[in-house]
Amino acid sequence: MGLVVDMSTQRDRSAPASPKREAEGRRCALSDIRNIGIIAHIDAGKTTTSERILFYSGRVHRMGEVHDGTAVMDWMVQEQERGITITSAATTCFWHDHQINLIDTPGHVDFTVEVERSLRVLDGAVGVFCGVGGVQPQSETVWRQANKYRVPRLAFVNKLDRKGAQLERVIRSMRDVLGANAHALQLPVGQEEAFSGMVDLVRMRQFSFDEASQGATVVEVEISQEHAHRAEAARAALVEAVAEVDEAVLESYMESADVPAELLKAGIRRATIASRFVPVLCGSALKNKGVQPLLDAIVDYLPSPLEVPAVHGVHPKSGEEEARASSDFEPLCALVFKIVMDSFVGKLAFVRVYSGVLKKQGNVYLPRNRKREKAQRLLQLHANRREEVDALYAGEIGALVGSKLATTGDTLCAENDPILLENIVFPEPVLSMAIEPRTQADRAKLDDALRNLSEEDPTFRIATDPESGQTLIRGMGELHLEILKDRMLREYKVQANAGRPMVAYRETIQAENKGDFAFDREIGGQRHYARIILRVSPLARGAGIPVEFAASSEEVPHAMRRAVEEGIADALVTGVLGNYPLVDVKVVVVGGENRPDESSDIAFRSAAVMALREAVRAADPVLLEPIMNLEIVTPEACVGDVLGDINSRRGRIRDIAAVDGHQVVKADVPLAEMFGYATALRSLSKGRASYSMEPSQFDVVPEGLRQNVLNR
Ligand code: GDP
Ligand code: MG
Repeated sequence: MGLVVDMSTQRDRSAPASPKREAEGRRCALSDIRNIGIIAHIDAGKTTTSERILFYSGRVHRMGEVHDGTAVMDWMVQEQERGITITSAATTCFWHDHQINLIDTPGHVDFTVEVERSLRVLDGAVGVFCGVGGVQPQSETVWRQANKYRVPRLAFVNKLDRKGAQLERVIRSMRDVLGANAHALQLPVGQEEAFSGMVDLVRMRQFSFDEASQGATVVEVEISQEHAHRAEAARAALVEAVAEVDEAVLESYMESADVPAELLKAGIRRATIASRFVPVLCGSALKNKGVQPLLDAIVDYLPSPLEVPAVHGVHPKSGEEEARASSDFEPLCALVFKIVMDSFVGKLAFVRVYSGVLKKQGNVYLPRNRKREKAQRLLQLHANRREEVDALYAGEIGALVGSKLATTGDTLCAENDPILLENIVFPEPVLSMAIEPRTQADRAKLDDALRNLSEEDPTFRIATDPESGQTLIRGMGELHLEILKDRMLREYKVQANAGRPMVAYRETIQAENKGDFAFDREIGGQRHYARIILRVSPLARGAGIPVEFAASSEEVPHAMRRAVEEGIADALVTGVLGNYPLVDVKVVVVGGENRPDESSDIAFRSAAVMALREAVRAADPVLLEPIMNLEIVTPEACVGDVLGDINSRRGRIRDIAAVDGHQVVKADVPLAEMFGYATALRSLSKGRASYSMEPSQFDVVPEGLRQNVLNR
């Protein structure tokens, strides 16, 4: 007979944190906070799993489903219609006295930057995998991003109710493809349609989920006779795997193979937080199975803010290294990781507080622009409501309302103890599209919409075509631009015509050169004079456009530097070949001339523009094009055709490997050659091959093709 238990009675609370770290008024002890992201390939079930987490933790009273468009995490209309998640919404829920801050991250490649910036502010992550599809290309990308930020992870293998689902196979490919030290903490009970629950291999108990309560009641029983043997073997394998990465478990194991549950659990926790071990849980979110044990595992195995390294940055003035520990009594240090323009409350800046307390009506300092402002209002976001709070404490995630200054990547800190965290680096957009308002009235609305949308999304940029005067929008892929266009129409009610998406080329230089320009002109009866001498030199791809001053203050007065910088920035926006932006160029202002009575902002600014153009023109300028990282999964029979086609698109094959009876081809291909690829691949493979691609770098357009691009 089944015994119904409330799982909370089974849980032990983590050790209380040292009282020195925590101020009065906190909602939750630091040791009880989990800042967690859910990362996955599209369709693995991330939204459904998040939805169930919110349902079982009591924040949502009606279960939402992705397919009927009622999932509360997917709150934008576009997401509900397309059934995909675009915006990371930070959501707070509670599970057995623990505060879980959950970030729903997008799964489509066009939005990986969203995933990346979420990872910056999280302490742990859950990778959701499909029990049938296993490790898909996108889960690989995201997994590697998580490696980069050393985010401890556990895995949830979902959809075990589906035909062909196999936990063991998914774990094997997590090890082979992702190099993860992944091991099951559970043994599934029943297969495919008959999947009914799991055996917990740490505590050696069996769970099933009561259908009448939509899985809310977890039924815990002794392991049935039928599974006892397999469970014993699986536990032995788990203990051995943990003993390999944890001393204490190894010691206990040497004494007796039957390691006590509490000791094993502590060992898994240590190894997971040290990123030496990936616990694997299983279930079916859709069928309401396995979600509460997943919540328990988040609490049991993923770190609290106290267990991750102190956050590091630099002193904005001295440049010296600074660190802040997770404590309310350290000076304030927070990172703005996302901006959302909300039609009800206006601008929402999502922040992660690392140290100190962000107080309502308190002062915050922004070291990037050396400005300060008051925190007007603070919110904590739940799935379907917002809660005003008086403070956000160390370790918490929430939103600042009405900030005038904050943009994505900004550090917020105490003015007396400033710290500047490393900014988030955003990839360069690869596609551009012309957009024309239908009427004059739409022009103002369009400008407004573009300003807001680009403030929310740093990979979405706006430019003006210097030749046609048209407005250009630039983004990371067709879907990205498509969705932005859609939002302009719906949220901002702009009537506009959009052109075809075009490759967003760049320009750079291949040689070092000097530019020297003296601006000397009469404007409105006043003489304006300034001279700027500067040097440009080529940099590696992705290095950006750093500007340095080596001129003396006699040559270029301090007060004029701003004007010179603005002139250089202006000139960098349009290159000399085809008006594409210049990238990967270092600019050093090496000299100049100032005449106290005749020099002005405008003169210095213009001299800088002209000197830069002159320098670039003779520095062997070239065009750069975006190269895509392409991955194709194809049946063996079509490999020849697929490779031939990639060759004809100027592609370079990086790797071909057999995985699960298919061939996986990896290649670098210029984006310019990839329009219409979906159709081409479909007809090549009779619909049996699939692909994904994402921007990887910019490369020089071959000499012979340059003129074609410029004539377009
Ligand atoms: P996401 O793209 O990762 O957010 O995935 P969704 O949560 O949107 O799920 C994708 C599709 O898979 C939807 O149609 C879900 O109903 C379905 N799905 C999610 N979880 C399960 C599951 O456990 N079993 C089955 N059979 N389908 C699921
Ligand atoms: Mg989703």
